[in-house]
Amino acid sequence: MTEWTKSDWRNKPRVQMPDYTDDAALAEVEGRLSSYPPLVFAGEARRLKSELAAVSRGEAFLLQGGDCAESFADFNADHIRDTFKVMLQMAMVLTYGAKVPTVKVGRMAGQFAKPRSAPTETVDGTELPSYRGDIINELDFTEAARIPDPAKMLRAYTQAAGTLNLLRAFSTGGFADVHRVHQWTLGFTDRDEAQKYRDLANRIGDALDFMNAAGLNGDTNHELATVDFYTSHEALLLEYEEALTRLDSTSGQWLAGSGHFLWIGDRTRQPDGAHVEFLRGVQNPIGLKCGPTMTTGHLKALMAKLNPENEAGRLTLIARFGAGSVGEHLPRLIKAVQEEGANVVWSCDPMHGNTIKSSTGYKTRPFDSVLREVKEFFAIHNAEGSIPGGVHFEMTGDDVTECTGGVRAVTEEDLSDRYHTACDPRLNASQSLELAFLVAEELSV
Ligand code: PEP
Ligand code: MN
Repeated sequence: MTEWTKSDWRNKPRVQMPDYTDDAALAEVEGRLSSYPPLVFAGEARRLKSELAAVSRGEAFLLQGGDCAESFADFNADHIRDTFKVMLQMAMVLTYGAKVPTVKVGRMAGQFAKPRSAPTETVDGTELPSYRGDIINELDFTEAARIPDPAKMLRAYTQAAGTLNLLRAFSTGGFADVHRVHQWTLGFTDRDEAQKYRDLANRIGDALDFMNAAGLNGDTNHELATVDFYTSHEALLLEYEEALTRLDSTSGQWLAGSGHFLWIGDRTRQPDGAHVEFLRGVQNPIGLKCGPTMTTGHLKALMAKLNPENEAGRLTLIARFGAGSVGEHLPRLIKAVQEEGANVVWSCDPMHGNTIKSSTGYKTRPFDSVLREVKEFFAIHNAEGSIPGGVHFEMTGDDVTECTGGVRAVTEEDLSDRYHTACDPRLNASQSLELAFLVAEELSV
């Protein structure tokens, strides 16, 4: 790699980042964060990279999901537990269908900063700066709330540490033990997908009983009792990212210590911009969102910059075109990857190209569009001889009404019932599980 330091991004054009007005306060926060322990460790990021390398070869499947934006107000154990639980259920369904391991990555413990489509927002004639996520400013529509405050980075760090602590405890402390596969069911006991999930849990239970009967130590096997669960977020707020970046003494390489997997958003992927400059220098596995404006030239330039050694597992391309548009964009990008002989993971984000405004005024996503984009993604990969490696969802374990449709249909009128997201609409637990079954069907054909 050409020479790199963790602050070089400061010399590049930056977009979507706040203009902090109090330089002294910003410097103090950066200084403090730089002295705090990293949240994740290099060995973990390397392990995730090797698991993603398996995904790139079609030997595993990637499930990435969580809130659009984590919020300070919704920070509680139940929210973390329920999202973790739904992801375990989804992973079980996917593994059962695809017959390969599922790599589980939460949009959690750091997913606080948001790119916005406009720098300001006007309500009833009043124009204020846009809300950019709880790590930057506040959602309230007042002038004071929208001023970026660097101290929020410290609170985000603390929340991320608390979240990770609980996720680590859930992953290895018995909660994720596959013998508890029946107990991960959430409250939706009377619904179709819950029945399907119970049937699958019964089959897994039978397999475990068989292993025990055959003396295969199903009860004490460490692999069955724990899971690897990784964290991810968009690396948008580079002051926060730089302050948590550390030199890994084992490899001599830099590690972004804020999360295992970091991605570059569709609005911040300028090949000569600040975000690409920062992420090219850290050893973490990284993602790159690819929307309709991604050209083959840009993609090739970005792959060369972000993964010059063509290391498998380093780069995940996250396609997000919108239902009905995948056929127009994905084939040329797949061909660009094939022409370069690039090792990448291809993942499908069927959320961000399918956001619409409902007749009732809410930002929503129709479940059918989400599903259709996933199906198009699979069909095109199969036609192009490429590997559809994973899915990326905005979802929650909570019983929200933010996306319309699903077997237990949420209508446009229902949206106001439990619309809790601070940013984009998420699939609820029932819709997430339903989608996992549908993806598993695609994987098993
Ligand atoms: C997101 O993942 O929340 C996001 C903003 O995505 P994109 O950059 O693809 O629009
Ligand atoms: Mn989003």
